[in-house]
Amino acid sequence: MYRVFYCLTVEHDLRLVAVAALLCVVSALGAVATARRAIDVPAARRTAWLLVAGFVTGVGVWGTHFVSMLAYEAPFPVQYHLAGTVGSLGVAVFVISCGWTLAVRGRNVLTAPAGGALIGAGIATMHFMGIDAMDVGAAMQWDAGLVVAAIVLAMQFAAGAAMVMTRFPSRRGLFGAATLLTLGVVSLHFIAMGALTLVPSSAAAAVDAGLVATASAGSLKLLAVTVALAVVLVVGIGLFAAVLDQHLGARRRAEMLRMRTLADATFEGIAVVRDGVMQDMNSRFCELLQLNREDLVNMPINKLILEGDLPPAGSEDAVAAKCYLRRRDGTALSVQVRRRSMVFGQDPSDVFAFRDVSAEEHARARMTHLAHHDTLTGLPNRLKFRESLEAALQQAWQTDTMVGLICFDLDRFKEVNDVHGHAVGDDLLKAVADRMLDALPGTAIAARLSGDEFAVVLPDVADRNDAVAIAQRVVNSVGSPLTVGSLHLKVSASGGVTIFPLDGEDSDRLMNQADLALYRAKGLGRNQVCDFDPKLGQMMQERRLLETDLAMAIEDELLDLNFQPQARLGDGRIVGYEALVRWNDERRGPVPPSEFVQVAEETGLILKMGSWVLRAACREAVNWPESCRVAVNVSPAQFRQGNLVMSVQSALDASGLAPERLEIEITEGVLIDDEERALNVLRALKSLGVGLAIDDFGTGYSSLSYLRAFPFDKIKIDRSFMTGLHLDREAQIIVQATIDLARELGIRVVVEGVEDFEELEALGHQPDLVLQGYLLSRPLTRGQIAGFADQSDPLRQQIVECISGAARHRKKA
Ligand code: C2E
Ligand code: MG
Ligand code: MG
Repeated sequence: MYRVFYCLTVEHDLRLVAVAALLCVVSALGAVATARRAIDVPAARRTAWLLVAGFVTGVGVWGTHFVSMLAYEAPFPVQYHLAGTVGSLGVAVFVISCGWTLAVRGRNVLTAPAGGALIGAGIATMHFMGIDAMDVGAAMQWDAGLVVAAIVLAMQFAAGAAMVMTRFPSRRGLFGAATLLTLGVVSLHFIAMGALTLVPSSAAAAVDAGLVATASAGSLKLLAVTVALAVVLVVGIGLFAAVLDQHLGARRRAEMLRMRTLADATFEGIAVVRDGVMQDMNSRFCELLQLNREDLVNMPINKLILEGDLPPAGSEDAVAAKCYLRRRDGTALSVQVRRRSMVFGQDPSDVFAFRDVSAEEHARARMTHLAHHDTLTGLPNRLKFRESLEAALQQAWQTDTMVGLICFDLDRFKEVNDVHGHAVGDDLLKAVADRMLDALPGTAIAARLSGDEFAVVLPDVADRNDAVAIAQRVVNSVGSPLTVGSLHLKVSASGGVTIFPLDGEDSDRLMNQADLALYRAKGLGRNQVCDFDPKLGQMMQERRLLETDLAMAIEDELLDLNFQPQARLGDGRIVGYEALVRWNDERRGPVPPSEFVQVAEETGLILKMGSWVLRAACREAVNWPESCRVAVNVSPAQFRQGNLVMSVQSALDASGLAPERLEIEITEGVLIDDEERALNVLRALKSLGVGLAIDDFGTGYSSLSYLRAFPFDKIKIDRSFMTGLHLDREAQIIVQATIDLARELGIRVVVEGVEDFEELEALGHQPDLVLQGYLLSRPLTRGQIAGFADQSDPLRQQIVECISGAARHRKKA
């Protein structure tokens, strides 16, 4: 330590040492400032600034060294070799440039200190090369320990300087780094000089032709000042350039920031493209593509195009192209693109503006879908269906194939709506649509035309049977029991089939034919499929005429009633009559009730007709003996309509008939449709005092549980059981079981449709049964009733005897 101190204070000219120190500080500042620029500037200018930093640092430390050497007052005359001296400058510039490059460009934590250490090594190399280029006329002896210490310290300080410079861009960081670098240079110089001992030697005193300086003290000082000024000039230029560049860079950055903020404020994605490669873009563009700016810069723009083209070069601003961009997640983004040429930086470029039109497109697609589809079931609507039908027919023309057209309609859908509400109706329609689709082949096009009306096009159907089979499959599928919410519904559908070109070639005509076939399926009892028959057209016309005539007949009260007697088997007494409606049309003659009652039900005329029947029957029955009741048929439509109770009440009031003399006949269908509602209406009727009979028992679901659940007074076993009863053992068993059960429950039994004594006899001895059938009497007109009332009628005697005979016959058996 003393050696170093002695060297500094005694062996150096302290004024020149001060100049060297100043030079060192200025150089260190210049070095750090220029190296910092290399970090702050864009990549393209980085190498240039690294070279400037290497040069400024190299020249600075070389100048410091040179002036310090001149400050060294060697005891012998000193001479400097030009090549070695200049060479040491070259080596310093080169190694230090490498050091800065490593410190600035390196990417891990070690590269900054490593680069700094390299700079320290460069400074040391320069120092010892410089000394080697000196001729002091004496032999140089080095203290190896101090030399190593000098080098290590220089490397450490320089490493610290590089770390601080790279990590702390602030002014304080800059000064801190410069201080560390200064310490590195100073410590190297003085410790290394302290390590040097000059030993006089005569051989070393020879003057060399290549010397730049002689030992003259005056000229040495002049040289020191000159070198110092030159170094200050070089370093000063470097420093000035760094400060100016930093200032300009800051302004440029502010300007860029302003531009970017402006670009980011737009709703459009903007990308600047040069030679097909993206140079820059706003954040909206990145957002649209779900990518970072770093991912997009330098990417060819065509890589983003999934479908469509960008507008061609030179296209006008107003012309927008449509294309699809690929987003990060692989999805396509629909955009509208405009293009404009401009100069970006200094180069001619293209600016593309992308507008996201996916929302508009989605809305448009949705509107188109809505215009063509039914919102409830999602099936095509009538409009779309007609288009599909036309297209299928067109195709079939060309390929010479057949097309099936089916119209479907739910049976009694209106009732579901009326009874359970529209929400249930809607759910039912959805379920039916699903079932329909499941039952159809993949090529079929199903549509909902309106309410409960569906239609299906079957392109390329093999033949008529094929189409009918498919329609039947749909009807079967729709007809199987269905649960909507907590409701168990039993719906059915009917279908009408027509075939192109067998039945017709025009779409309107085919639609009409499928409708007619459907109508026929309904007329035949629903829940079935009919195909088109040319006779159907005429039948339909007739049916429409029948509807009009029936409406008029009801309106003008041209209907009439017949009454079919009912007699007790035990004593043959007439207990009542069933009122049966009759229509004797002027043109058609008598129309069977099976025909016109159904038409009345389908058209809703039944309500008016039903209340007329009720009034007329009650009016008539008032005139009969008090023991005779009148039975009136009530159709399910009347039952469901809600004012049946009122209508019964008003018929009783108007006629003055005692309620217990009126009996309402309903069929099982009424009960199945909606048990709860049926029960309420039956109870209300019951509370009026009228009797309740279940008609046609055994033809429907024949649920014996109805007998217990509903307040019936009477069951009427259907005439289908009576026909040939004596020949049908099974029918006998069923009839007997039903009679026994009813008897147990206290319900009276009417056997309908007994036509001869054999059938009667087959019933056995059952005096409490009531008989209604042609054997007893056909339905009578009002005028005929009075004569029939005679209890001593021989036929009735015969019936009574027959029952007793049956009993005898059974006893014998
Ligand atoms: P229903 O209520 O079962 O009436 C009995 C039907 O059986 C009557 O036919 C009657 O003439 C017939 N019939 C009675 N005994 C015999 C027999 O021994 N042999 C045969 N082959 N038939 C017999 P009709 O008058 O043709 O009535 C048919 C159906 O029309 C009735 O069946 C009923 O469901 C309905 N109907 C008749 N009048 C009315 C009415 O005023 N309102 C309503 N809603 N329906 C009615
Ligand atoms: Mg009846
Ligand atoms: Mg009946």
